[in-house]
Amino acid sequence: MRAVQLVEPTVVRIVEVPIPEIGPDDVLLRVSAAGLCHSDLHVVHNPDRIFSRPVTLGHEVAGTVAAVGAGVRDWVEGDSAVVHLCWSCGRCRNCVAGADNACLRGGRRAQPPAPGLGPDGGMAEFMRVPARFLVSIDGLDPVVSAPLADAAMTAYHAIGHSRAALTPGAAAVVIGVGGLGHCAIQILRATSAVRIIAVDIDPDRLVDARRHGAHDAVPAGADAHTEILGMTDGLGAAAVFDFVGNDASLCTAAHCVAPYGVVQAAGLAGGTAPIAAEPRTGVGWPWGATFRTSYGGTRTDLMACVALAREGHIAIDVERFALVDALQAVERLESGKVQGRAVLVP
Ligand code: NAD
Ligand code: ZN
Ligand code: ZN
Repeated sequence: MRAVQLVEPTVVRIVEVPIPEIGPDDVLLRVSAAGLCHSDLHVVHNPDRIFSRPVTLGHEVAGTVAAVGAGVRDWVEGDSAVVHLCWSCGRCRNCVAGADNACLRGGRRAQPPAPGLGPDGGMAEFMRVPARFLVSIDGLDPVVSAPLADAAMTAYHAIGHSRAALTPGAAAVVIGVGGLGHCAIQILRATSAVRIIAVDIDPDRLVDARRHGAHDAVPAGADAHTEILGMTDGLGAAAVFDFVGNDASLCTAAHCVAPYGVVQAAGLAGGTAPIAAEPRTGVGWPWGATFRTSYGGTRTDLMACVALAREGHIAIDVERFALVDALQAVERLESGKVQGRAVLVP
């Protein structure tokens, strides 16, 4: 089969590899679509990301079951499913509590194994998936459902984590209206009555933001926080979701979070948030403000996203590429041109 692999640090190639073998607890998924996440670019461009072997990329995958292992009871050939991102241990304290995105097995700063970032992922014609990491999408179009696995689920988890701040009428800022951000806006609309203020460097993405339900749209830059404070009686936003995570976006977040508000940072662009403990010094955060990072989401978060999609509350903007055109998709994402999510279709 054909697969998109990171063959050595920074080098992506389309290669021919054998169809994966499955074990007793696995299914063989015939891939219908695999989303291209900005994290894939971080992985490809980070020469420190050395896997012990070439790795098939793709951690945002949907498809149909092509074969099941001897021990699999709940899935049969032809079932359609999306693949959960967090291949967690299922046994540690956090996993047992349902926080499988925060599996403790890998250690304090690790993330659970994710397909495409260790085990082979889904930018291929077939993929091996342990059966317990499948979530049914029966009746949904798998091509537009693939990004539910990360773009929507990670946004849903970040929002859920900040739920207490999202009281009706409060303001929520969404920084970065790409794959994750355009889902976040729709999830906020569907699950809260907050006033949504979108921020992006690209005017086209601000148009997308309004189309998906943002009440206001602000161009990113050094003045963005001033504009946001102007919209919020000078107090700031109860929740700021940063789906960029560079110095500039984190600086905006720090300057527009309200007293006792929360900055929920999911973007992984490698930035640092400026913080001073005392509100009147340096980048003084208002009293009580919280900074929180967030990784992926839980299996129940993914199920919630599937349910929201089923009810028409999440409609992902998808740009389709043939699997063999993966490098063009990478280039387009890199140049900031993708609207919503680029999805590879084998
Ligand atoms: P994307 O490329 O689809 O979207 C990024 C958006 O941010 C684009 O619309 C771009 O115009 C905008 N942008 C860039 N710089 C900006 C700035 N300074 N201010 C405002 N907007 C800016 O990316 P994506 O796939 O949505 O991923 C977003 C980030 O989230 C990436 O860093 C990715 O690695 C990370 N991510 C994290 C998790 C997690 O679990 N924490 C999961 C998935 C993705
Ligand atoms: Zn991702
Ligand atoms: Zn665990």
